[in-house]
Amino acid sequence: MTLLIDIHAHPAMNAFLWDRDLRRHVMGGDMFNPLASLSDFEMLSRGGVDVLWSALHVPEREFIDNPPIHLAAHLTRGGRMLLERNAWECLLVQMGQMEQQVERSSEHFRHVRSNAELDAALADGRTAIVHTVEGGHHLSAGLEPGDEAGRLARVDLLADRGVASITLAHLFPNDLAGHVDAIPKEEHRILFWKVDPQVDLTRGLTELGRAVLERMIERRILPDVAHCTIPARQQVYAQVANRIPIVASHIGVATLNAEPYNLTEEDVTAIAASRGIAGVIFMPYWLESSHPKDGLDAIWRTMVQLNDWAGGTWEHVAVGTDFDGFTDPPDDCSDESQLPKLRTHLEQQGLTGDALDRVLGANARRVLTDGWR
Ligand SMILES: [Zn+2]
Repeated sequence: MTLLIDIHAHPAMNAFLWDRDLRRHVMGGDMFNPLASLSDFEMLSRGGVDVLWSALHVPEREFIDNPPIHLAAHLTRGGRMLLERNAWECLLVQMGQMEQQVERSSEHFRHVRSNAELDAALADGRTAIVHTVEGGHHLSAGLEPGDEAGRLARVDLLADRGVASITLAHLFPNDLAGHVDAIPKEEHRILFWKVDPQVDLTRGLTELGRAVLERMIERRILPDVAHCTIPARQQVYAQVANRIPIVASHIGVATLNAEPYNLTEEDVTAIAASRGIAGVIFMPYWLESSHPKDGLDAIWRTMVQLNDWAGGTWEHVAVGTDFDGFTDPPDDCSDESQLPKLRTHLEQQGLTGDALDRVLGANARRVLTDGWR
């Protein structure tokens, strides 16, 4: 069976922040627009998406405390909650709301917490929604600095709720892992007042980060190294030692755009050794240093590089759009409904049969089988 799987998009955050009903498509567009709705249920259905790794994410304090954002937050229920409660509390609310939204659309969608539930949902013709969590700051919010047991208990709770992967780092410092700069340069000022992502590219995994990673492996939550510094990534590979597939959920490659955010050959070799996957981001800003408006061509060339670094195999290439993650999507494939254009584009480049199936979904399915519950 040919599957279409997006391993990273943010309908849940979109719904939480803007009080959205995901049954209704609000607006799309190919520009950077935080209010757009690129991965709601209508977009997912029209795109023929079979499985969505639905990234839960609560913006970091440093982001919310920016005066324009702080002001805007008062305008929605979700925004006001951000001001009043910590990231962990908001995450649980966002998770519960997403489950309710999926339940309300149960004729087409189903939230799944295990491989068995995923298979059953697909057999019933439903689009399966799998929770993932982006950012280690959720695990620490409101806890004492040394409270390792508290953080591990949160990993346990997320495992019990069916979370399939956790992205260790994000946009600002957290106490698990060093992060790279992942805010496009021009947005350091325009959108965010004046934001300092406080990047230290030498920072790796912390003691807490190692403990959390170990618990994730035990509880079968896939580690996602997107947003991590190069040293943090290397330390994750060394500690995991191929015990669980490693994911880089929404990335480009350093040969096309030499940003620390993007993967290098060393990354891809290690991810392939773990039988993991790299999901290509649908954001030309990261894919290519020229920052083109279109993306399909850059997406293809990124996939070719990943194939080459993995030893000439398509087994470690996947799709991780990051739609609705405050991104500027490609003009030629700007939301989930347009994903069939990716298939066509890959076919035109000569990717067919088994290889095409792997990239579009089979690899992402395999990683869940091997590393999730
Ligand atoms: Zn991200």
